[in-house]
Amino acid sequence: MSKFVFVTGGVVSSLGKGIASASIGALLESRGLKVTIIKMDPYLNVDPGTMSPFQHGEVFVTEDGAETDLDLGHYERFLDARMRKLNNFTTGQIYDGVLRKERRGEYLGKTVQVIPHITNEIQDFILRGARAGTSDEVDVAIVEVGGTVGDIESLPFLEAIRQLSIRQGRSSSCFIHLTLVPFIPSAGELKTKPTQHSVQKLREIGISPHLLLCRADRVLPEDERDKISLFSNVPPEAVISVADVDSIYRIPRMLWEQAVDQQILDSLAMPSRPPANLHVWDDLVERLENPQATVRVAMVGKYVDLTESYKSLTEALVHAGLHTRSRVQIDYIDSEELELHGVDMLAAYQAILVPGGFGRRGVEGKILAVRYARERKIPYLGICLGLQLAVVEFARHVAGLSQANSTEFMPTTPEPVIALISEWTAADGSLQSRTEKSDLGGSMRLGATRCPVQPGTRAHAIYGAEVNERHRHRYEVNNRFKDQLKKAGLVISSETPTEALVEMIELPLSSHPWFMAVQFHPEFTSTPKKGHPLFISYIQAALHQLKEIA
Ligand code: GLN
Repeated sequence: MSKFVFVTGGVVSSLGKGIASASIGALLESRGLKVTIIKMDPYLNVDPGTMSPFQHGEVFVTEDGAETDLDLGHYERFLDARMRKLNNFTTGQIYDGVLRKERRGEYLGKTVQVIPHITNEIQDFILRGARAGTSDEVDVAIVEVGGTVGDIESLPFLEAIRQLSIRQGRSSSCFIHLTLVPFIPSAGELKTKPTQHSVQKLREIGISPHLLLCRADRVLPEDERDKISLFSNVPPEAVISVADVDSIYRIPRMLWEQAVDQQILDSLAMPSRPPANLHVWDDLVERLENPQATVRVAMVGKYVDLTESYKSLTEALVHAGLHTRSRVQIDYIDSEELELHGVDMLAAYQAILVPGGFGRRGVEGKILAVRYARERKIPYLGICLGLQLAVVEFARHVAGLSQANSTEFMPTTPEPVIALISEWTAADGSLQSRTEKSDLGGSMRLGATRCPVQPGTRAHAIYGAEVNERHRHRYEVNNRFKDQLKKAGLVISSETPTEALVEMIELPLSSHPWFMAVQFHPEFTSTPKKGHPLFISYIQAALHQLKEIA
């Protein structure tokens, strides 16, 4: 039967509960356990798919096509286990499930209430995430509770995990609470009071933490540790100091040095196991500290997106740096700045990247960046929207389709090189269905599709015969323009097997040293341990560019 590690947060949000959960998962996994991580989000949205990146940050897409919280990205980067739809759920999904059951009469006329119906539903979702009762059941499910203890929204989740720990029996559950121990400069001291209060809050609802992870800007001194221990009813060795570090890859070692993994196993009464393997994390830190070159990448996007929505992408570029012994410096460039002030500022970069994005704003600036990369022969990587705009740019300036556009930005364009499938498959060739844009949730191509790769292309050199990457978009390259684009020299290096939708494009080596764009999001499958072949190849091209200049 699965055991559970529940991770709650106290005092403030953004303390890095996701990274802490992922690091714990990595330690337990390296001790030979089958681990998964479940994230519960206390908001009413069904999933983050329709939330603004400003509100929510990146939407992480799982292989089975779920739009999830960005913490699932951390989990996949730290663990070998893959996340699925079932690994993330929200209050919205819980209520949705309960209300549907109520309509079907499944509650047999009872009054449907938060306790027990909502809390039972939460427990069912947790057990499902742990794949309880299947051959795929995990040894340990780490369950991260979104939000902060004391929030009204997270109460049903806390009540549900309390109940679940009783239902599963003695030693079934380990509770870990992550808090902040702030340093107050005027007093010259670390303050433990917020932590004490937060633990008291947790105990009021019947949860006594086994371990406290104390975030602070410095290492927690012995006496503060003892004080927290005394007031929180947690042994001193279970008060863990999680000081600020320059790299998240240091966290697994930091937790291991304080025996977090062993203390978890002890509290779960699990038999002894081989020790944790820290080699991969130590190696990553060593690589991070000793780069042999620095490459500068210009990431050109819409201003609001650039702040938070590219977590996985930024990570994937860092991973590529680790595996090419280089430091990748990413500058976020607002594409509207390029529209206003021209593209000269791009001259400082060895590589240009246009990431995924939605909406019309800043699009022409991104097209300017693509054109600059193509004409100046600077390595270019286009992702999702970055592919669509590379096709628009090529159509306009090389294939002679001067009015080419995506119907996302100009619904009446006479040359819709990018459009919704329904728009270019209308029987009479008309584009009338353009106006019938569907419901925003659930109308996208989501998740991974296996596609063959054209031999002899750069894509083939990178991926081999098949590519299997994750999608999140509505628009596609319009098949009606494919021949014209190909004739003008665009290489389509991969298409979906059934509908022949464009997956990857590139420019031949004879016309450009490294120009590739992909309709999927390769960043979701990059891990620090292995890197990702597409990003590694891209950064190698940028390093080459650096040598050329030198
Ligand atoms: N807006 C484009 C589409 O919906 C691209 C989406 C993306 O880049 N993720 O197809």
